Amino acid sequence: MIDASGDESPVDAVVVGAGFAGLYMVHRLRDHLGLSVRGIEAAEGVGGTWYWNRYPGARCDIESQLYCYSFSRELEQEWDWSERFPAQPEVLRYLNHVAERFDLKRSFTFGTRVVGADLDETSDTWLVRTDRGERLRARFLVAATGNLSAGRVPDFPGRENFRGHTYFTGDWPHQPVDFSGRRVALIGTGSTGVQLVPHVARQAAALTVFQRTPAYACPLGNRPIDAGTMARIKADYPAIRQREWDFPGGVIFDDVRPSALAESAEERQRFYEQKWQAGGMNLWLGSYEDILLDERANETVAGFVRDKIRSRVDDPDTAEKLTPRGYPFGAKRQTLEDGYYEAFNQPHVELVDVKATPIECITPDGIRTADRHHPVDDIIFATGFDAFTGALYRMNIRGRGGRLLSDHWAAGPRPYLGLNTSGFPNLFFITGPLSPSVLFNMPRAIEQHCDWIADCIAWLQAHDYQAIEAEPDAEADWVDHVREVADATLLPQADSWYLGANVPGKPRVFMVYLGGCANYKRICDDVAADHYRGLRLI
Ligand code: FAD
Repeated sequence: MIDASGDESPVDAVVVGAGFAGLYMVHRLRDHLGLSVRGIEAAEGVGGTWYWNRYPGARCDIESQLYCYSFSRELEQEWDWSERFPAQPEVLRYLNHVAERFDLKRSFTFGTRVVGADLDETSDTWLVRTDRGERLRARFLVAATGNLSAGRVPDFPGRENFRGHTYFTGDWPHQPVDFSGRRVALIGTGSTGVQLVPHVARQAAALTVFQRTPAYACPLGNRPIDAGTMARIKADYPAIRQREWDFPGGVIFDDVRPSALAESAEERQRFYEQKWQAGGMNLWLGSYEDILLDERANETVAGFVRDKIRSRVDDPDTAEKLTPRGYPFGAKRQTLEDGYYEAFNQPHVELVDVKATPIECITPDGIRTADRHHPVDDIIFATGFDAFTGALYRMNIRGRGGRLLSDHWAAGPRPYLGLNTSGFPNLFFITGPLSPSVLFNMPRAIEQHCDWIADCIAWLQAHDYQAIEAEPDAEADWVDHVREVADATLLPQADSWYLGANVPGKPRVFMVYLGGCANYKRICDDVAADHYRGLRLI
């Protein structure tokens, strides 16, 4: 299929990415609308996040019956989950099963990266270029490129001189890595670092963890799903799918209460303990509604988690370093752990607070911090992603007047509803910035966007329109609305990747819509019902 001659292969739509989003988008456009579709994926297979992040301990932290597609009743009934929170290999197997069941792989070119996309304004079509020299012309371009797919390793001086092995968690080797007998450095204690630490500690001769900001990590509470439980889940799927929309993030909880401040300290403590024991996101999104809205309410739960951390770490000095302060509980992506704090009770595991003693450089045989040299054999970078915009900008998308998307969004991303931006007709983002994306159970957020995009394309065709493009005013209003909603919460108070704070020079804009998934879906549906209000039809 690769045509390196410079000729353009015409298709109706190009979909970039073969994770949850790209797979379902291709299915909708190809199998429901009958369009000619080409998927392009940099990896050698499907899976997206779950293809790349193969580090030990990589695991989904949303319950498996929620973290899956809902579009096919047959698919739901034939797939058995083995654990409450599935590990990376199981999610990858699931996505391969989906790709095969719906015969999706034949529509993708793997091992190929989109390196450019230019709007041809004479016809409002996209010219897409790949790193293998192929050129495709498509009326519709869908970025299913992922919010957490553009890896980011800070530019530590001397990195290139390190003589040992280095690993980035988001591009982990396919063969298991054996750390036995090795002195390992692990940089980063976000969700990934917290998952990795107990696994590496089990193997390594010495593990040094470099922490910038301590996490409010809560227990995962994983357990196997037995046959009886799976049968009950399958019978309940229709009710589960309905209930998901009753919760702002699409994750179901029992007994969410309105206000932490309305209850006595004793009752609050009892309730937090119950939620702590229940595991998962229970304390974060399933306890009191005001803990992410009111500083005093937040402090009650933050104090509870701090006490829990202190009670699990033997050395008081290490416990203090691991105790988060200075930002609200839940304002960063909730990290869930299984043996993380206990790992630091082992004599061969050390914690370095890089706020107190910053990393100065990487040397040929270790890491130098402000106070000393840490000799190591291997370095693991669990340093996260250039979230939301990283993968989009790396595609070099040029819209009207040859303007780069990164220039159009220089002051921060501005897509209307997170779906489309002015000057870039027929370019759609799946779970793009300014949509509920990562604070909505992602497979459901993805399905909602793919359905909206597919319905929009079908409508354009039925009404003989060539293109659709956000109006600048609608875009500006949406940017304001997203900011207002975020500012009514405590989330912008933390230096998180939701705000781009982990990437030097990135504009500080809260990139997630916090109005709740049902509310957001209603807005998107109303816009469509109102002949795509806020979008120009061409
Ligand atoms: P991705 O899965 O990221 O797929 C995007 C694909 O696009 C990638 O395969 C990438 O190679 C490809 N791509 C990007 N740019 C190009 C290009 N220019 N050319 C060709 N291909 C390109 N979400 C949850 O809801 N719950 C969780 O528990 C959870 N855990 C996570 C754990 C980790 C370690 C990470 C990194 C993310 C996690 N997420 C979780 C978020 C996760 O990314 C989403 O749930 C979901 O997998 C996103 O699917 P996607 O298809 O949108 O993007």
